[in-house]
Amino acid sequence: PVPVIAIDGPSASGKGTVAARVAAELGWHYLDSGALYRLVALAAIGEDVSFDDETEVEALARELPVRFEHARILLGDEDVTDRIREEDCSIGASRVAVLPSVRAALFDRQRDFRRAPGLVAEGRDMGSVVFVDAAYKFFLTASVEARAQRRHKQLMDKGIAATLHDLRNDLQSRDERDAARVVAPLRQLADAVLVETTSMTVEEAVSFVLENVRA
Ligand code: C5P
Repeated sequence: PVPVIAIDGPSASGKGTVAARVAAELGWHYLDSGALYRLVALAAIGEDVSFDDETEVEALARELPVRFEHARILLGDEDVTDRIREEDCSIGASRVAVLPSVRAALFDRQRDFRRAPGLVAEGRDMGSVVFVDAAYKFFLTASVEARAQRRHKQLMDKGIAATLHDLRNDLQSRDERDAARVVAPLRQLADAVLVETTSMTVEEAVSFVLENVRA
C-alpha cells in the first residue's frame, strides 16, 4: 500500500506547517483535512445553513466543489485559501466536525488523497480513523499559550487583528469540543510518536519527524 504519515494534534499546534514541509521534503502528497471542515463551514455560511442542521450540512459536505491547486484552495471558482482561516470558519469547522454524517461524508474524499509515492495527512483523526493503517503516526502538540501566540503571529502577518486573550479562549473551547465529541474525538494514540513543540522551531519539528520516518 501507498505509505501514509499521519500527523494529528490540537488547533494551532503547528502541524499544518510541519506536515506541509515534511511532504515537500519527501516529495509526497499532502492533505490538510482541517481545510475540508473549514470549507464545509464556509459553504454553510454562504448558503445560510445553520452549523447544527446535520441533514443540510451533510449535503453540502457531499457536494463540496473543492479543488486543491498547488497551495491554493478553490471552492467553485472562488479562491478561499485565506478566507477559510478566518475565525468564523475556525469556529464553524469545529461545530460541523461534531456531526457524524458530515465526518462520514468527508471520509472517502480524504482517502482519495492517498496516491503514490506517499501521503502526509494532517488533522485530528488521521491516525485513529481515516488512515488507521498509516505507516507512521505522530501527535504534535504545544502549550495553549504557545499555540495562541503562533496563531496571533499568523493573523498579524496577514493584517488580521485579534487579541491573545480571545485567541486563547477560542483555542481552548475548540480543544474541548474536539476532545469531547462522540465520533473521532481528538486523542493521542498509544502508537503515535509525541512531538512536543512548545520550545521547538519549525525546522526542529520537521527534522524530528523526518528522522523518525527514515529510521
Ligand atoms: O486543523 P484546523 O484547525 O484547520 O481544523 C479546523 C477544525 O476542523 C478543527 O477545530 C476540528 O474541529 C476539525 N477537524 C476535525 N478532524 C480533522 C481535521 C479538523 O474534526 N481531521
